[in-house]
Amino acid sequence: MKQNYAIIGLGRFGGSICRTLAEAGQEVLAIDANEDRVNEYMNIATYAVVGNAQDEAVLRSLGIRNFDYVIIAIGEDIQASILVTLMIKEMGVPHVVAKAQNEYHARVLEKVGADRVVHPERDMGTRIAHNLVSKNILDFIELSDEFSLAEIRVTNPKFFNCSLVKLNFRQKYGLTVVAIRRPNAKIIVSPSADEVVLENDNLLVIGNADDVDLLDRKLN
Ligand code: ADP
Repeated sequence: MKQNYAIIGLGRFGGSICRTLAEAGQEVLAIDANEDRVNEYMNIATYAVVGNAQDEAVLRSLGIRNFDYVIIAIGEDIQASILVTLMIKEMGVPHVVAKAQNEYHARVLEKVGADRVVHPERDMGTRIAHNLVSKNILDFIELSDEFSLAEIRVTNPKFFNCSLVKLNFRQKYGLTVVAIRRPNAKIIVSPSADEVVLENDNLLVIGNADDVDLLDRKLN
């Protein structure tokens, strides 16, 4: 489904979102106060405009309130990021995603109404650290304080050719296998209980981060 997106701030983060959405055929309005940045995205975004998003008149003239999604990807200027998030939420935009620089910033963004607060540097750091600590945790994404999604390689032959019902990870570790990635095959999404784990499979599991680590130690 085609939706429309406005991105404020075309640094590395906002720029990458802009590029990916445009490649996915979505309608993207890109806004930045810096003209050079805007010129870079002229041929990528549907519209690219120079403007200071802290100026409410600018936001109104661009019709920001009619967008489905607004992504606030302002970097260093925390005050601007908070003010812009507040104004955009007050205009009634249903989905506002804001990038936080740190935990305090994140709390304020949530307070002023951001629907989703992202911490790209922190999250990427966590993902890489998990992968460094265990070479078999290929990816790790924190979904909330309680739940994480991890992709774990299975190298212990004890687990090969066992069905999920036999492995019983949900009872043993409180983990749910949401998908199995098998080399040279389609990813098996939402596998049934009798799906069998083969050598070289990767399991995508959701659960508590400590339980993911526990399972990782068992599987390898
Ligand atoms: P990143 O860490 O994603 O690379 P940057 O700090 O480099 O972030 O980029 C943030 C972008 O946001 C810059 O291009 C900057 O010009 C833009 N920006 C900052 N404040 C405003 C504002 N009030 N209105 C519009 N754009 C802004």
